[in-house]
Amino acid sequence: MNIKSLTLAMLITTTVAASAQADDFQYAGERFADLQMLRYQVHGFDQLSLRQKTLVYYLSEAALCGRDILWDQNGRYNLRIRKMLETIYTDYTGDRTSADFRAFEVYLKRVWFSNGIHHHYGSEKFQPGFSEQFLRNALINIDATHKLSFNTDELFPVIFDPTVMPKRTNQADGQDLILTSAANYYGQGVTQAEAEAFYQAQKDAYPNPEQPIMFGMNSRLVKAGGQLTERVWRSGGLYGAAIDRIIYWLQKAQTVAETDAQAAVIGKLIEFYRTGDLNTFDDYTILWVNDTQGMVDFVNGFTESYGDPLGLKASWEGFANFKDLEATRRTEKLSAEAQWFEDNSPVDPRFKKSNCRGITAKVIVAATLGGDLYPSTAIGINLPNSNWVRAQHGSKSVTIGNLTDAYNKAAHGNGFLEEFVIDEPTRENINKYGDLCDDLHTDLHECLGHGSGQLLPGVDPDSLKAYGSTIEEARADLFGLYYVADDKLLQMGLTPDAEAYKSQYYEYMMNGLMTQLVRIQPGATIEEAHMRNRAMIAHWVLDHAIISIRPPMPEDGTRIMGQPLPPPPIVELVKENGKTYVRINDYPRLRDLFGQLLAEVQRIKSEGDFKAARDLVETYGVNVDPQLHAEVLERYKALDLAPYKGFINPEYVVTRDKEGNITDISVKYDEAYDHQMLRYSRDYKTLPLVND
Ligand code: ZN
Repeated sequence: MNIKSLTLAMLITTTVAASAQADDFQYAGERFADLQMLRYQVHGFDQLSLRQKTLVYYLSEAALCGRDILWDQNGRYNLRIRKMLETIYTDYTGDRTSADFRAFEVYLKRVWFSNGIHHHYGSEKFQPGFSEQFLRNALINIDATHKLSFNTDELFPVIFDPTVMPKRTNQADGQDLILTSAANYYGQGVTQAEAEAFYQAQKDAYPNPEQPIMFGMNSRLVKAGGQLTERVWRSGGLYGAAIDRIIYWLQKAQTVAETDAQAAVIGKLIEFYRTGDLNTFDDYTILWVNDTQGMVDFVNGFTESYGDPLGLKASWEGFANFKDLEATRRTEKLSAEAQWFEDNSPVDPRFKKSNCRGITAKVIVAATLGGDLYPSTAIGINLPNSNWVRAQHGSKSVTIGNLTDAYNKAAHGNGFLEEFVIDEPTRENINKYGDLCDDLHTDLHECLGHGSGQLLPGVDPDSLKAYGSTIEEARADLFGLYYVADDKLLQMGLTPDAEAYKSQYYEYMMNGLMTQLVRIQPGATIEEAHMRNRAMIAHWVLDHAIISIRPPMPEDGTRIMGQPLPPPPIVELVKENGKTYVRINDYPRLRDLFGQLLAEVQRIKSEGDFKAARDLVETYGVNVDPQLHAEVLERYKALDLAPYKGFINPEYVVTRDKEGNITDISVKYDEAYDHQMLRYSRDYKTLPLVND
């Protein structure tokens, strides 16, 4: 699981108090469409040993080699379209200042950002701002020099026709989610019912139901000769050419591993990439989760299933990182108390873990982002995703300190809080505590929330189906919300005083009810799991915020004298000067509501109550009030901020001696966005353009 944009900092970001030390690093980069590029600093890289630097470098290369896999997973035409667009971008000799060409540039930059032609977050297809005729002429223009032949009959409808592949991942209840999704996880003509039956049969036939493998995780399910069959992503199989390149760099990484245990982890991953065997994958994750000694760590492989409407097939991602020792002390404190948090949560004891263990938590420094973590990324990661591995071996949780830091630094004084926060005291509270409590909430979500609770015996971990991701994220968020206000954190020295948590409560409610809507197109519903989760929590709480019913007014409009007014709702949406604001009237009771919902969400998860999950998500997490939505969009537009952000990777510059041995590695931060994308397409082109 990952936290994509959990914090307000990522969405629009808070106005942080000016930092004491001057920092002339350029965090903010290029801006286009709804996107803002940022850069992150690899704090502490210089202090690593040469061996550790070399390990980071090899793992970074491995993290970049799977880029093409993700592009193809996101849609079967993506690699072809990328090649076509990039060739025009570099070789076009026509008027590069024309409106069409400018619109073309923006389109390409968006496609790069999304690793395909659909929005990275909303998953709707981009509508080009240039004409079909322009693209035809541009192809003729470059063809003179290239003799390129792109099949325009095939590719043009994919780009221009809004009815062709309109969504990458369709989550609309009641539709065939596979046939209506452009993602390339299922072959042509495979229906949702067929895929569900196929994997149900695999599960039923599996000899060890207590320890189920991640069915279907690393393959495309296709129809061949009327039969369903899996084309496995492995060396020698589908995506084999890319996987071989990844293996090459992993083998080099193995030679400079910090410990034998780490070398064994990498070796097991290589074995999995070679065989595609999902039992080997589980073995690998168990080794990986137990390997916590080294400074350097990584994620590499088929990891998150958000892009598959059925939540089975995992997108490829890569990530090289190392420990942020200072910040890790914070999360180690929380992890050491995991059992206390479990025991004291408002959840039914039957759903609690009696032995909370194996939760390791650390703050890390991102060194290179790849695949589904690039350029749009997570600020926290909790893996592995296998429920039984998590239950028996624990999970590894990280928060990515230097990314959060970059979001915050890039967001100084942009007017957002002034526009959306109800009053000055609340704003002051957010300015004072917002960053700290965002970090803490992330820590609680990752270190404790995802790791808490247990399924009742015999409950299928996939029983919540399409609602599983949203319920899981809600569970972790609620765990964090409930505990960020706890005296325990004060006693542990993690919060400075009893006021701090209010910043998180206000930001969370404001985000869930209002400000996250800036990411939704007018008329659309909420699709993405993390957004659904936030909307669900905030709207459920709003719906349960009335403490008692106000007495009816007498017919003549006079109030009965002497009768006390009932208390205001715990939290409400109010209008002031025609603008809607969140007002929180009772913070302690808001905490109680978060606790109540946590108990219910944990029950749903533990019992595998699909119907309750669907009701909760569909009632509170999907629909958008069109009037409020329009208002939020208008107010947000006036601020002229980009709702989505992503990162340009640093470059690692390797110095070698005459024999070719690495003598030093340094970090460079000055690469332009388009340059980086073109370089990646050239140097990490690991797959053919067609992978059918
Ligand atoms: Zn999460």
